[in-house]
Amino acid sequence: MICLNIDGIAVEAGEDMTILEAAQSVNIRIPTLCYMKEVNEIGSCRMCVVEVEGMNKLPTACNTLVKEGMHVQTKSERVIEARKTILNLLLSNHHRGCFSCPQNGECELQELCYEYGVEESRYVGTRKKIERPVKDSHPFLCYHPELCIHCQRCVNTCAKVTGRKAITLGKTGMFNIIEAPFGADWDTTLCESCGNCAQACPTGAITEKRKKNYRGWETKRVRTTCPHCATGCQMDLIVKDNKIVDVEGADGPSNHGLLCVKGRSASFDFIDQEDRIRYPLIKNKDTGEFERATWDEALDLVASKFTELRENYGGEALAGFACSRSTNEDVYMLQKMVRTVFESNNTDNCARV
Ligand code: SF4
Ligand code: SF4
Ligand code: SF4
Repeated sequence: MICLNIDGIAVEAGEDMTILEAAQSVNIRIPTLCYMKEVNEIGSCRMCVVEVEGMNKLPTACNTLVKEGMHVQTKSERVIEARKTILNLLLSNHHRGCFSCPQNGECELQELCYEYGVEESRYVGTRKKIERPVKDSHPFLCYHPELCIHCQRCVNTCAKVTGRKAITLGKTGMFNIIEAPFGADWDTTLCESCGNCAQACPTGAITEKRKKNYRGWETKRVRTTCPHCATGCQMDLIVKDNKIVDVEGADGPSNHGLLCVKGRSASFDFIDQEDRIRYPLIKNKDTGEFERATWDEALDLVASKFTELRENYGGEALAGFACSRSTNEDVYMLQKMVRTVFESNNTDNCARV
């Protein structure tokens, strides 16, 4: 273990820990914008700068390792001034339309500007002179270059976590740019519309298009499990006026905040559809029409038909195949029923994702 001192507190940290991690271990908050643990530790935004005794420059806490005897200041006057300058520089290239931005109220840049009292940039950004059109031909996602702070969370999320490398870092003249594949030819790119880049983006630069239909403060979150496959990703349903308006990946053991396109964009629209089947239906053999039934009527009918088949043809005539959307517990119950009630070993499921 390494012993160091952060803001006057003696801290013990592993030798592979960064200053940021050591500070977090004793509940000292250091602000970050580009940082995402094990995904984006490039120290590009520089919001996490700290003062270290004996070092002239202010190092970035997210990617500087702790050292024995280090003395770190996370809130010194010099550090606060540096962070204000950084926010001024970020804002100098940032379109200031917070009222119309879908991320208003949930934007990490907005929150930090509020915390550090930065309302207007004292600089005029040179990127503002370059034409940077919005890319919104993608069915789910939209990219506003004027809201992009080039933190690269999206680039590294797509490459290292989603595994697509659909977003790249490009160049225009002397500037770096983010090449987000959300323009007219988005369907020829590697993007699979999972939306993990939008969830990672700290500003409103990449957003799900449906986000413009609500504001964060109007909603509540309901933690649930994705209904689409046996991976069992954890997700938060975003609910406004008792209707699900969006989905966000939650930190579950199998998904760690990520979702695929099905979990993100195909999990909730059907809930309020007019033609959704909400109760059991039994076909009237005389009219050929389906008619509403009670659960008892429907289950009795199904049970009597299965029993009839088993008695006439034996258990081998029956099989049970569980849906991949079922939970482990439901799949277990199905095989139990097939073996004990159907008297058959013909049982399987398609949960092999
Ligand atoms: S939606 Fe998914 S695949 Fe497409 S760019 Fe974003 S992270 Fe990459
Ligand atoms: S689009 Fe968002 S995540 Fe990507 S670089 Fe810009 S601000 Fe960062
Ligand atoms: S469908 Fe996608 S989001 Fe849902 S559980 Fe499977 S992998 Fe996760």
